[in-house]
Parts: sequence; structure tokens; C-alpha cells
Amino acid sequence: MLVRADRVGFARLIAYARDPDNTDQRALACILSHRCNCPDTPYRQALGLDEAELRAVLAEYFPVLAADWPDGGCLRHRLGLACHHEAPPPGHGRFSASLLEQEEQDLCRLFLTHAADSGIWPVVFARSIARACMEPQHLWMSLGLEGRAQLSAILVRHFPALVARNDHDMRWKKFFYKLLCDEEKVWTCKASSCEICPHHSECYVTSPPGNAPAVVPPEG
Ligand code: SF4
Repeated sequence: MLVRADRVGFARLIAYARDPDNTDQRALACILSHRCNCPDTPYRQALGLDEAELRAVLAEYFPVLAADWPDGGCLRHRLGLACHHEAPPPGHGRFSASLLEQEEQDLCRLFLTHAADSGIWPVVFARSIARACMEPQHLWMSLGLEGRAQLSAILVRHFPALVARNDHDMRWKKFFYKLLCDEEKVWTCKASSCEICPHHSECYVTSPPGNAPAVVPPEG
């Protein structure tokens, strides 16, 4: 569910879309209405696309807006919205920027090696999802999406081979990091298996076989 400020941004953005019913254009409008491309935005809360990438996707799918944004800068300000990412989130300083950048690059590489094609959309979503993974809350919330289903639909459309690997319905961010841990052969889990782990409901959408369904929060 979009918060009020994001709904205003979304309405302004989608009015510029080449096809307001297109699922990718709607998802990008959600993301752009929640996150911020300006250089002063704290690292974790920023969009994750560089200006050339953002300009390319806007020129293709939001051409009037792209033409009306000749000097770049903060897109939120161009849309008449407050730049609401001025205060770093709690815990922002716990990790060094270089560590976050390395994680983000690893995630981006993971997405793009599973991309459905070499078009602009996988790049846009790989970069924005990788950056949003740096934030602590549910991934779909960090992206400004309406729910987990919208995030899952993006992944199915653009990274189907990655989705196919999540055959136990792990929460998306947990799943991406597990793949990176598997690649590096570095595991931090304390339990010997997920089935007996007390944190199962934090990592998976569904309960392990034989267990009563756990009460879990909306998933990220
Ligand atoms: S359920 Fe437990 S063991 Fe499995 S990935 Fe999560 S924390 Fe690790």
C-alpha cells in the first residue's frame, strides 16, 4: 500500500507514462515516487540508477517528463515533491559505504546474470532492487511497491531463472543473500538446517512441512 506522499508522486509520474497501464511503467512510477535520485540522498535510500540509466528509461517510457528534465538533478523536485530522504535511517552508519557498495554490486551482478533479456528494464530493476536491499525493512516497502506480489511479478518478468531457484518460497531479500553466501561459501546461520531453525518464519513465506502455519508479517 502506497503512503500518501508516494501516492501523490505516483499520480504525477504515471500521468507522464507512455502507457499508464503497463506493469513495468507502473512499477517504475512507484519506485521513483518513493526513492530519490538526487546526489544528496543517503546511500541506502537512493534510487541506485545513475543519471544516464534513468534518463534512458525516462526517454523511452516517460518521454515528456524526460524532455522536461533537461538539466537533470533531483527528479522529485522536478515533480514538485519534497525530497523526503534528507535524514539517514536508523542504523545507517553501522556499515561502511564501501561494504554496502560491494554488496550492492554483488546483488546487481546476481540479478543481471539471471536477466530475461538485455533490454533496459532488467538493468533498471536490478539496480533499484540491489540498492533497496541495503535498507533494513521489507524489500517491497523499501522500493515503494504496493506489496510483495508486485515485487514477485517484477522478478518473474525480468529474472525468471532467479525466481525458479527460489523453490522453497524464501523471502526475496533473504533468498538473494543466501545465494551470495552459497557463492562465497560463507554461512552465518546458527541452525544446521532451515527446517529446524527458530528463525524460519523470518526467512520463508511458508512453514516447514508438518508445522502449523506461522503467523508472519507481510513479506519483503
Ligand atoms: S531459516 Fe535459519 S538456517 Fe535457514 S536461512 Fe534462515 S536463519 Fe539461516
